Amino acid sequence: MSRNLVQFQKGMSDADFDRWYGTEEQCRKALFTWRWPKGFICPVCGAGKHSVIGTRVLYQCSACRSQVSLTAGTVFHSTKLPLQTWFRAMYHITQSRGGISSLELARRLGVTQNTAWKISHKLMQVMHEREAKKPLKGRVEMDDAYIGGKREGKRGRGAAGKVPFVAAVETTDAGKPH
Ligand SMILES: [Zn+2]
Repeated sequence: MSRNLVQFQKGMSDADFDRWYGTEEQCRKALFTWRWPKGFICPVCGAGKHSVIGTRVLYQCSACRSQVSLTAGTVFHSTKLPLQTWFRAMYHITQSRGGISSLELARRLGVTQNTAWKISHKLMQVMHEREAKKPLKGRVEMDDAYIGGKREGKRGRGAAGKVPFVAAVETTDAGKPH
């Protein structure tokens, strides 16, 4: 099993965040890249050819016609919240040193405190699971998934200056969500 990780560069400014992940489309593109760093791979048959259905959250394999949701197997699945909200939550959670209260998170995200609590609870849970499963497998791929603009550091090693990450996508080695 490999995990594609979501990371935000340490010290990323609000302005940078808005520039890179300010729209739903940008978040979708980022999620796609994390899930399929080498391009779409059908989790059923392994084919790469696909078409995009509707609003770019559903992909259909051209070979076996399987339909794959962009968020399937991720913490974003079965949520009605926009990806933007999740990304913003991850940003605030990973950037705040002493942790962030659900009240403060709610204020920043523009959601209810209850929703903010659920979001942070889910993200923290995934982070803790991730922490518990060291050493890091799939680290090389992870480096490709670093976000925040530049790809600094060496592949295959933890690049310096990165904040603890949030594992947001969990897939099998074949890229099949579970
Ligand atoms: Zn297929």
